[in-house]
Amino acid sequence: MNIKTDGIVHHPLGGASYMFEKEIIPYLLKQLTKDHIKISVGAQVNSSPHFGTLITIALSYELALQLEKKSNKKASILYEIIETVPGEESTINGLKYQKILEASGEINKYLDEYIEILNHYSKITGIEYEIRYQSEFNNSKEIYPIIKNILNHREFISSRLDPKYNNLRVRSSCPKCGLTDKHSVKNEYIGDYIYFMCPVHGKYRVNFITETHKLEYNSPLRNLIRGIFYSTVNNSDDYDYQILRVTGSDYAGFYQEEMRYKLASHLGYDVSKMSFIFYAPLIMDWSGAKMSKSLYVKKGAYNDIPQEFINYHLLKNIRGIESLNTILKIVETWFENPYMLFRNYTIYYFIKEFQKYE
Ligand SMILES: [Zn+2]
Repeated sequence: MNIKTDGIVHHPLGGASYMFEKEIIPYLLKQLTKDHIKISVGAQVNSSPHFGTLITIALSYELALQLEKKSNKKASILYEIIETVPGEESTINGLKYQKILEASGEINKYLDEYIEILNHYSKITGIEYEIRYQSEFNNSKEIYPIIKNILNHREFISSRLDPKYNNLRVRSSCPKCGLTDKHSVKNEYIGDYIYFMCPVHGKYRVNFITETHKLEYNSPLRNLIRGIFYSTVNNSDDYDYQILRVTGSDYAGFYQEEMRYKLASHLGYDVSKMSFIFYAPLIMDWSGAKMSKSLYVKKGAYNDIPQEFINYHLLKNIRGIESLNTILKIVETWFENPYMLFRNYTIYYFIKEFQKYE
């Protein structure tokens, strides 16, 4: 099938693009009252950063630049890295287990690419960045009261965040062999402890007051905890900064309404004071599905597009690291015309834009 296009990009307005057609930064600044804004962006480091990830990072830097330009505030990047990746899965006595891999050879190679990108963007924008690992995030003193609150409402939260199994998807690897009960089926919650069950080594426990760094969560639970954690930091005088999250817009809408805001409200948090999420436009294939790194890695998808638009490794090899500057220029035009921020783009849009700049 050949698809014909006239190459003209339309921007019909509607919803947020209508509301924020000409300006978005003043609206954000009205609610960001502290002098330092940290823009949080993150990734699970399990492959070379794919094209959508590059857009999200560039958008974070451009947002920081725009906030600084239109106020006296300092803006910086807080890169939240999930350094553990799910390894091999196995089924033992009918239950699914996985081994969580800590940062090692392969992951470090990809991590170096992320750091190269952050260094490059910091150099050309003058915006600073810091990296925070999941274990550091989990170690923050604000995490334990959030976990405790969630445990107090465990039944409700589990039914919403895990409608299939009704389990609170908190995990911790067996200290002896690293096996993890993937669906948190055998967890028990007694006093200040969460008990986990290894099929080989039996029960082990984690004190959720003093050992929060040993805990891991599935994505929806992590998203809820992160949202409440950022909001706590933003509303506390103990911190001289506020956090604003940037993430892909596949997480916008129904997901956040159901998995974040309604649950935070149920837990007693003031949703009107919750932290911002700024959504980066999705990068889509010809059919309108988001470009997926796992499809590319596992199934060799996307043979129909120029390979440099797949991931950073290929982009750098084929077009050079300066391509990151091109991406930043494209994203800059979105902030000049903020209605361009509230929509998604196919990969063909970027192929066309790249021709303009290179
Ligand atoms: Zn074990």
